[in-house]
Amino acid sequence: MSDHSEIAIIGAGLGGIGMGIRLKDEGKDDFVLLEKTGRVGGTWRDNTYPGAACDVQSHLYWFSFDDQPDWSRVYPLQAEILANIERLVDRHGLLPHIRFNAELAAAHWDDAASLWRLSLKDGRELTASTVITAWGQLNRPSTHGIEGVEDFRGDWFHSARWNHDVKLEGRRVASIGNGPSAAQFIPEVAAVAGHLTVFQRSPNYVVPRLDRPYTDEERQFFLDDPARLYESREGYYQEHETWHGAMRQGTPTAAEFGRVAREHLEAQVADPALRERLWPSYPVGCKRLVISDDFLPAMARPNVTLVTDRIERIEKNGVRTVDGVLHEVDAIVYGTGFDTLQFLSAGDVVGRGGRSLREAWRDIPEAYLGMAVAGFPNFFMLYGPNTNLGHNSILLMLEAQYGYVLQAIQAIDDNDGRPLDVKPDALAAFNQRLQDDLRGSSWAGSCLSWYKTADNRITNNWSGSVEDYKARTAQLELQHYEFLEAGHAR
Ligand code: NAP
Repeated sequence: MSDHSEIAIIGAGLGGIGMGIRLKDEGKDDFVLLEKTGRVGGTWRDNTYPGAACDVQSHLYWFSFDDQPDWSRVYPLQAEILANIERLVDRHGLLPHIRFNAELAAAHWDDAASLWRLSLKDGRELTASTVITAWGQLNRPSTHGIEGVEDFRGDWFHSARWNHDVKLEGRRVASIGNGPSAAQFIPEVAAVAGHLTVFQRSPNYVVPRLDRPYTDEERQFFLDDPARLYESREGYYQEHETWHGAMRQGTPTAAEFGRVAREHLEAQVADPALRERLWPSYPVGCKRLVISDDFLPAMARPNVTLVTDRIERIEKNGVRTVDGVLHEVDAIVYGTGFDTLQFLSAGDVVGRGGRSLREAWRDIPEAYLGMAVAGFPNFFMLYGPNTNLGHNSILLMLEAQYGYVLQAIQAIDDNDGRPLDVKPDALAAFNQRLQDDLRGSSWAGSCLSWYKTADNRITNNWSGSVEDYKARTAQLELQHYEFLEAGHAR
């Protein structure tokens, strides 16, 4: 018997779950959500490292179309977000749509039948008229560029695969990396380790977080009238939108962030020599800001050593730096980020004429408004190329994408199910303008980051504000799409 759904969503993280809810809201019930693991939650399931939390305030870190959770703190911790996601799935009756342990191996567009043929890693096969990917940008842990990882005889793991069986108490621990993930686990590890050595390749601008638990009175205040929480959410949203200024080079906002970061450093680190080693030389905003109240104090602890010499290789007893020193440790935590430039989770996505996404993206990953790729009909990406932000909540971008994809699905329905494909010239013109605009962004400055390729082309970030993106995606511009010939329809 054929296993066919109108829509297949790939990934049951927040992106895919939100899409499922919106589909149900629109009365579209014929969809399946393929989840590669046995649990929903995506990044919030994977990142269980000590101190894991969101850098966006709780009130803003939720879908506007759902009842707002009774958040316990200003910034939500991972466990609270994951629990809220699981409740969300239950509340909206999504479980019957989710297939767990269903990892996509390949997706092939069948031109004659006008549908996608999906094969899963365990050999199962299914078809769908439309595929919506929600496989995220930050889920393939990387230790890229570090030699000898496997040679180490002690315990080691990546921050997104934290091994909670390994006890770090009283031991000599190394953290490789000091980005947003490491900045969250370093204070926790430093508090229990005998000694923590932090290997820093580039310093980061660190700005205050001002996190705290909500008091019972505050929680009641928001519960009594949800409009108050929406007001709070709107305030955070508008404030973050102003941060977009820091994502452009040489702006007053960027200068202001630099001033705030410098004051924060001076207030939290007394040793002037350590301060200078923790102070970046690249422009503000080039890399993601670290938002933390406890990272800098942790770096100033007597049991923490900052090493800025480059790593030569990992050896069986520790980390060898280029100055010849072997830093002996019992455990290594890799806070080294993710492979982010592929935008592919499945083995292969093959569109019209047998052309794969890998081939289409040989030069650079690109998608019209981050969602549609020419030659891949009825295929929409959530949080795809150039839709990440440095200044505001990704959930806002996802919500804009849901609205756009729903319009596309409606347009397909209105045209007797004829497949919808973005025009190549529309995609090329879009990406040209975007790349031109991105050249003036802070990310284009002289720093390393997961946002861009080795030749400094920014593949991950949207150049504008959230408001800009909402405006661009409010209306599906059918003139930039073609409906495939009726002969292709099923
Ligand atoms: P990341 O920002 O890519 O940072 C990786 C760190 O590892 C950097 O310090 C990097 O140094 C270092 N590193 C990488 N390869 C190295 C090598 N070969 N040798 C030495 N050092 C190396 O990764 P992340 O901290 O996991 O954060 C990724 C993204 O996840 C963030 O930007 C954010 O979007 C998201 N995130 C969000 C939160 C939150 O909301 N709270 C928390 C964590 C992560 P360089 O800086 O020199 O490249």
